[in-house]
Amino acid sequence: MRARLVAGNWKMHGSLAANRALLDAIVAGVQGVECTVCVPFPYLTQVAERLRGTRIAWGAQNLSEHASGAYTGEVSAAMLGEFGCRYVLVGHSERRQLYGESDAQVAAKFAAARTGGVTPILCVGETLPEREAGRTQEVVARQLDAVLAKGELDDAVVAYEPVWAIGTGRTATPQQAQEVHAFLRQRVTAATRILYGGSVKADNAAAIFAQPDVDGGLIGGASLKAQEFIAICKFAEQKG
Ligand code: PEP
Repeated sequence: MRARLVAGNWKMHGSLAANRALLDAIVAGVQGVECTVCVPFPYLTQVAERLRGTRIAWGAQNLSEHASGAYTGEVSAAMLGEFGCRYVLVGHSERRQLYGESDAQVAAKFAAARTGGVTPILCVGETLPEREAGRTQEVVARQLDAVLAKGELDDAVVAYEPVWAIGTGRTATPQQAQEVHAFLRQRVTAATRILYGGSVKADNAAAIFAQPDVDGGLIGGASLKAQEFIAICKFAEQKG
């Protein structure tokens, strides 16, 4: 059985003081489930120091597809690895939509993370018009296949995040999530965990985590609220 994972995506939020309080609460409150927080680059040192020796891992939200060179403003996988960064989000829909990341670029970032020893969390998901046009499977398959073309995912992580559910308060029903997860599950090896993301909160987490092909969650807004995030982690812990 795959160990469940709950990953918090802080997006571009935080301050030294707010992070300190949030991390203290997470360390004290999260116990029986694998958990990671994916934080803005400047806070990696703070998070690395606070979480050293605890059961909480840390990650980044983006990386360069290049190993090094004249790429102003970019951060490589090797740099992340030096901090003990365990995970990195790749292909989040905000990166795809706001920064024009293509499937090919996402696949290159995925490969770079692998080479640098950082576990990628590959985000896939359809927009509302794509869902309404019955194209959900086609879209997530295309996004996943771009990465699979370069090799198996194995112990990497996939996050199914319907774009229409991210930050909107509108969550996929547990059945909608399960349907897509079951579809993705057929395309990856047994070791690959598939998380659900999109407006997961304490009051809907249990039903989503109860689905057989949901191996945990990628949590945005609710990961900034300590008690909400801890409650979500507890539901992941209870599953199975
Ligand atoms: C996300 O940013 O990956 C996410 C799922 O956000 P939210 O939980 O706020 O919808």
